[in-house]
Amino acid sequence: MIDVILKKGKEKSLLRRHPWIYDTAVQKTLGCAQPGETVRVVSADGRPLGLGAYSPSSTLRVRMWSFDASVDVDDSLFLRRRIEAAIEAREALLSRTNARRLIFGEADGIPGLIVDDYDGWLVTQFQSAGAERRRDEIVSILMDAAQAKGIFDRSDAATRSREGLKPHVGVLAGKEAPQLIEVVEDGVRYGVDVRVGHKTGFYIDQRESRLAAQRIAADFLERTGRGLRALNCFCYTGGFSLALMKGGAQEVVSVDSSAEALARAQANAALNGFDDARMQWVEADVFGCLRKMREEGQTFDLVILDPPKFASSHYHVERAARAYKDINLNGMRLLRTGGRLLTFSCSGAIDVDLFQKIVAGAVFDAGRTAWAVERFGAGSDHPLLMTYPEGEYLKGLDLLMRD
Ligand code: SAH
Repeated sequence: MIDVILKKGKEKSLLRRHPWIYDTAVQKTLGCAQPGETVRVVSADGRPLGLGAYSPSSTLRVRMWSFDASVDVDDSLFLRRRIEAAIEAREALLSRTNARRLIFGEADGIPGLIVDDYDGWLVTQFQSAGAERRRDEIVSILMDAAQAKGIFDRSDAATRSREGLKPHVGVLAGKEAPQLIEVVEDGVRYGVDVRVGHKTGFYIDQRESRLAAQRIAADFLERTGRGLRALNCFCYTGGFSLALMKGGAQEVVSVDSSAEALARAQANAALNGFDDARMQWVEADVFGCLRKMREEGQTFDLVILDPPKFASSHYHVERAARAYKDINLNGMRLLRTGGRLLTFSCSGAIDVDLFQKIVAGAVFDAGRTAWAVERFGAGSDHPLLMTYPEGEYLKGLDLLMRD
């Protein structure tokens, strides 16, 4: 096995069990390791620190399989145990949904591997040289351990090119998934297109926030005797819109710039038998739409802002912060006193503290007073591995407008 020797002092993060080694931390590699090949990581003073997958073309040079160099990580049993443990940890969710993330990369000890399950149809993303190298092994274990109907690969994310990997989309095993897979989450039905949808087809990570939206709508109805009027910005295939309708919203206006996403959202509403007359679908740019609605004097009981990732890296944080502030400011301007703003950011480069500051800035500029009555994050199938804070990317706030 090839040794990767670290520079002096660069073993510290590894000793804290952080799974990444950057190219800048490597002093030398004793041999020519293939993409994804297992290497032994050694400190400058010769101490073995563990085993990881080598990625020669990535700045993320090694992703750790184990912090114990004596474990046989190349044995199939090693992978099987990790995969089985990951699947078992998500079993309890089945009582609420058949759309779950089964494997969340680093958090599950399989760096770079994403596996989502839609009613027994698995969708994979191999985002590291290490996961890619062991693809066939992973696929065969998954078919068996998850009792999968089929496995469809959506390894078309931009992150693959950084690992020197070409995009790949298509069936890997079992039967070919239907054009639309129907899933049910907390009583709401969604059609998921795993071939062309965002991520693997659905924003599985927003489950808890969708349920919160459903509850807020239901509480509102119970308290006031009328259904709330809501605005869902960046609605995609209707996730939050349908959750609100399920909770008893009177009227939901949904905005997205993608006609295809809106068509899918409308079809999803029909799938649930929701009253078409109470749902408006607006194809527009949210930034302009919020301003226009304010000029028109529109008001809402609840506004949802769940935009795409505005900051793709640390270099874009400032520009992204301005964009987040803009939509939050203009979104809350449409809220009456007592109204609620559910606001999210899925930019990993913007942490919980910064997001809170941005939203606080918007509250101040709007001249309002607001309470954060709840905080949101990804569901339990996207657990945060405590030694790997990079795994936390999704955050959200439920703001109650006090005046
Ligand atoms: N809230 C969704 C996920 C949002 S994904 C859910 O829970 O499922 C982001 C969505 O924003 C995409 O559908 C994309 O088409 C849309 N989008 C991106 N930029 C936009 C803009 N400036 N105005 C309106 N929609 C936009």
